[in-house]
Amino acid sequence: MNTIRHDFRSDTVTRPSDGMRAAMAEAEVGDDVYGDDPTVNLLEQRIAGMMDKEAAMFVPSGTMSNLLALLAHCERGDEYIAGQDAHCYAHEAGGAAVLGSIQPQPIAHQADGTMAIDDIENAIKPDDSHYARTRLIALENTFGGRALPMGYMDAVADVADRHGLGLHLDGARGFNAALALSIDIATLGKRFDTVSICLSKGLGAPVGSVLVGRGELIGKARRYRKMVGGGLRQSGILAAAALYALDHNVERLADDHKRAKRLAEGLARHPQLSVTMPDTNIVWAKAEREVSGALTEHLESMGIAFGGGYGEHRWVTHIDIGDDDIENAISAVDTFFKD
Ligand SMILES: *Cc1c(COP(=O)(O)O)cnc(C)c1O
Repeated sequence: MNTIRHDFRSDTVTRPSDGMRAAMAEAEVGDDVYGDDPTVNLLEQRIAGMMDKEAAMFVPSGTMSNLLALLAHCERGDEYIAGQDAHCYAHEAGGAAVLGSIQPQPIAHQADGTMAIDDIENAIKPDDSHYARTRLIALENTFGGRALPMGYMDAVADVADRHGLGLHLDGARGFNAALALSIDIATLGKRFDTVSICLSKGLGAPVGSVLVGRGELIGKARRYRKMVGGGLRQSGILAAAALYALDHNVERLADDHKRAKRLAEGLARHPQLSVTMPDTNIVWAKAEREVSGALTEHLESMGIAFGGGYGEHRWVTHIDIGDDDIENAISAVDTFFKD
């Protein structure tokens, strides 16, 4: 592999800026397992306030955040409904099943990334000893970079209410979703009992997520965080980066969205690529396998990296991708198709 100079693999690849590092260096800290870290406490209060929820908890990763939410909502032998490609079902190494004895009920996605309301409703089990107890519906927004509309989330929330189920939002890229939908983050999470938000993606912090929600659930999740080894000590150093990100890196997500759009337009000029116009910061470009493989090699040789597999490429824009990276990528793809 050549040195990567234009890294579109994910918005997790960002490095903390000088300003963010300075904020980390200056952070006041204490032992967060004792509840003594003032910077972590500030971050948790601030996010809870922004989202109009009772409580928040800083966690080392989005995967742990989702796991703790599932554990807080569900007991052993319970079941949660999630999309077939949802992160909390498909991309977390089976954690809920392995560590919580919680059974997933995956649902196929529609072309627009949603789960059909009827499919969700039909998957909810009656109270019968044959079945696992359905306890929770988990949504993800953005999903594959797509912003799922408020009307859809409300419709799912109505189903959850009707059946007395909990509702969790994997809002790893929730700020991107809120921006694309022109709503604030509190509105995005309004109907949910718990919401997980990544700090280490588009927001550009080096580590961490927050789980936000009803006090009772966050309290349970806090015990599970200790159980799985996620209780950190002077984590104010990390929380300081997150606070810095909330001050400096939320509004600028609009730049990532604009650059993703520009990239998509550039890629879409080639009929060999089937490009989905992005809602947010993720561009999907499909190609025939052979073309895709050769294109990947060509771009790699030029220090351009992206995610996804052969056949379907995922280009993610983020704080360390500037206009020059976009133009560079577009012209590299142009060159490939000209030769
Ligand atoms: C990245 C991501 C996570 C997990 O975050 P990690 O910090 O990488 O564990 C969860 N859900 C979604 C939708 C994500 O994109």
